[in-house]
Amino acid sequence: MPELPEVETVRRTLTQLIVGKTIQSVEVYLPRIIQRPDDIKRFETELAGHTIVEIGRRGKFLRIVMDGLVLVSHLRMEGRYGVYRTGDEVEKHTHVIFRFTDGTELRYKDVRQFGTMHLFAPGEEFKQKPLAKLGLEPLDASFTEAAFLEAISRRTTKIKPALLNQEYIVGLGNIYVDEALFRAGIHPEHPADKLTKRQLERLHAAIVDTLTEAVEAGGSSIKSYVNGQGEMGMFQHSLRMYGRQGEPCLNCGQPVVKTVVGGRGTHFCPTCQPPYRTSQKARQQRNGRQG
Ligand SMILES: [Zn+2]
Repeated sequence: MPELPEVETVRRTLTQLIVGKTIQSVEVYLPRIIQRPDDIKRFETELAGHTIVEIGRRGKFLRIVMDGLVLVSHLRMEGRYGVYRTGDEVEKHTHVIFRFTDGTELRYKDVRQFGTMHLFAPGEEFKQKPLAKLGLEPLDASFTEAAFLEAISRRTTKIKPALLNQEYIVGLGNIYVDEALFRAGIHPEHPADKLTKRQLERLHAAIVDTLTEAVEAGGSSIKSYVNGQGEMGMFQHSLRMYGRQGEPCLNCGQPVVKTVVGGRGTHFCPTCQPPYRTSQKARQQRNGRQG
């Protein structure tokens, strides 16, 4: 599933490829992708004649901003956008085609068919599902240490599910949560409300660094995507923790452990990310020695 860095890369790529183009017609082949409006014919006719002004992003959602309309798109598991010339063979699993007046078209492909599109009047998109209740935007200037502490420090869940909750912070998924917790040296099952201020500050920095580096890595791969078939989607970043079970921790050399936290496959280093009770005992002993 694409997380913030992948969606941000798609956003930047789409900005290069389709901003300024005017939609001539739209065809929907799989109605269930379109969540708003209910009437698919209305979706198709309303978009015709509108020009793409900007591609925005909110969490893992793309905002395709037009003159007078906003299309909110979520790629979910396997959604892909590609730009083609009209007349290019339409590949399998193509569910929506946006034809532009310049002879090109934007196609939405989705093998798993979980992706969604919602059409709004400008500004309306933030007041309604699916964007209305979204939390902090971690690469925005508003994502300060104080805002992060406010959003997380009183949650009574384990830290990993708290970070995955899009109503607290947006954009993080299974991969980048594991990466950020490893960098911060925090066990994924640590109770969120038992983290020290220092741990939360480390975690805040780890989230920003992890996502920023991944966005930069994605940015450097944009060119090859655009020069290829114009298709964009997921790409593999160099990950320090996710998917490395059994391999040596890059910090201490101990094997990376895979477990399940909140129903999600979770990777961590038992040495660098000690469980809450152990880290608490160590702290008490340290404090005891100091006192
Ligand atoms: Zn380690």
